[in-house]
Amino acid sequence: MSLYPIFANLNQRPVLVVGGGAVGERKVAALRKTGAVIMAVAPRVSANLQAWAKAGFIRHIPEAFHESQLDRIWLVVAATDDRALNQRIAAEAWRRCIFVNVVDDVALSSFQVPALVDRSPLMIAISTGGAAPAFARLIRERIESLLDASLGPLTDLVARYRIRIRTRIPDTARRRRFFERLFHGPVAGLLRQGQALRAARALIGALRDLHDEKAAGSVALVGAGPGDPGLLTLNALRSINEADVILHDRLVSADVLALARRDAELVDVGKQSGADLTSQQAIHALLLEHASQGKRVVRLKGGDPFLFGRGGEELEFLRAHGIAFDVVPGITAAMACAAYAGIPLTHRDHAQSVRFLTAHSREGVHALAQQDLADAAQTLAIYMGVGLLSEIRDHLLAHGRLATTPFALVENGSRPEQRIIRGVLDQLPELARTHQVQSPALLIVGAVAALADRLHWYGQAPLGGTNDIARDLRAA
Ligand code: SAH
Repeated sequence: MSLYPIFANLNQRPVLVVGGGAVGERKVAALRKTGAVIMAVAPRVSANLQAWAKAGFIRHIPEAFHESQLDRIWLVVAATDDRALNQRIAAEAWRRCIFVNVVDDVALSSFQVPALVDRSPLMIAISTGGAAPAFARLIRERIESLLDASLGPLTDLVARYRIRIRTRIPDTARRRRFFERLFHGPVAGLLRQGQALRAARALIGALRDLHDEKAAGSVALVGAGPGDPGLLTLNALRSINEADVILHDRLVSADVLALARRDAELVDVGKQSGADLTSQQAIHALLLEHASQGKRVVRLKGGDPFLFGRGGEELEFLRAHGIAFDVVPGITAAMACAAYAGIPLTHRDHAQSVRFLTAHSREGVHALAQQDLADAAQTLAIYMGVGLLSEIRDHLLAHGRLATTPFALVENGSRPEQRIIRGVLDQLPELARTHQVQSPALLIVGAVAALADRLHWYGQAPLGGTNDIARDLRAA
C-alpha cells in the first residue's frame, strides 16, 4: 500500500495546530505560506507564535486541546510531546474524517509532511512513506544543489505568459522545444542574474522570432577545479549537466567529465605545454562552430578559467563574434593544493601575502626574474613549473630568497594519487628528480610550506621532508 501524493489548497481554510513549542512554531510557519486560517492551541506558546497572533496572522487559543476545537477544521497537526494527548487528537480526527499529522509518529498520522524543495510556485515533495525521513532529507539536499534559485521566477514567468505561448505555438512538440529553450537558454540565465525585466523581454522576443529557434547558442566558460568533483561549484555542475558539447582541457579530471549528460559530446582540446597559437585558434574555431549551431557549449578548464587559462582570450574572441557567454569561476590549483596539503597560503606568523606566478609565459622563466621575489613574508604559488625547477630555484636564490626557504611541490592536488614533496629551496630540483614529480604539480615556496609536515591530512604524508628524515633516523 502506498501513499497518495497531493498538494493541498488550504487558502482560507481553517486548520488547527496543537502545541505551542518550537515544533508547533515550525509547523505554523510552513502553514502560514498557504493562506490557511491557522488556530494554534496551547495554554502557552512561543514568543514568535505570540507575536504572530498579536499581528493577526494566526489565532491563539490559550486552552488545553478539546474535541470541539475540531469543528469545521480541514486538517490538524499534533505537535505536542504528550503521546497520550497526541493519541486523543488523532483518534478524534479519525472519527471526524479530518486529516491529521502527528509529528514524528507515522502510525498515528493520516497524512505526512514531505521533505520539500521549495522554488515556489514550483515545489518538489519527497517522501519515503515514513520509512526513513533522514534519507528523504539527504535526497532533498541533492536535489537542492541541482536546481538553482532561478527556477521559481522562471515558473512564475512561464505562468504569466502561458496563454500567449499556447496561442502562439499551438503545436505541442514545438511548444515543448520552446519550453526546453526557456529552461536552458538565456531567459533562465538572465533570471539567475536577477534580471527579471530583461528575462521577460527575452521571452517576448523569443516568442516573436520563433523562426530563429537555432540562433541562441551560447558558451559557458567553466572552471572545473583541480580534479576532486566535490570542488565544483553548483553553477559549474549545472552548466556541465546542461551542456550539448563540452570542450575540455587535458587537466580536467575523468571524475568531473563523468558528470556530463550521456548524450553530450566531449571534445578533448587539451594542449601539451608550450603548444603554439594554432591550437588556440583551433579551439576558437570549435567554439564558434558549435555555438553557431545553436548548441550549449561548455568550455571546461582545469582550476579557474581566468588564472593561467587563457579564458580572457577566448571571451574576447566570443565577444567579437557576438556569441553570448557566461563565466563560472573554479577553485584554482593554488587554493586546492594548499588546502589539500595543509598549507595555509597566508598565516599571521609567516606570510602576509601570496602571489600566483607562472614559470611559463611568453618570456619563459625569465619573466619570474623581473618580479620582486625576495620578500620572505610572501608565499609564492608557481604554476607550470615542473620542467623548470632548476631555473626557478636559481632565479629565486639570485633574487634574494634564502636557500633554506621551505617549499612544497603538490603533484595531482586533490586527486586520490596526490603527493607532496617537501624540502628547502636549495634541494628543489634534486628532490623532484628523486621522486620523479610529473605534471600537473604546483610549487609553493615560503615559510608556510613547512606547515604541511604537521597539517597535512589528505592522502600520503609529505615525502622528502622532515617526515622522511625522521623515518630515516628511526630506521638508523
Ligand atoms: N587554470 C588552472 C591553471 C592552468 S595552468 C588553475 O586555475 O588551476 C596548469 C598548471 O596548473 C599545471 O602546470 C599545474 O602547475 C597547475 N595544476 C592544475 N591542476 C593541478 C593539480 N590538480 N595539482 C597540482 N597542480 C595543478
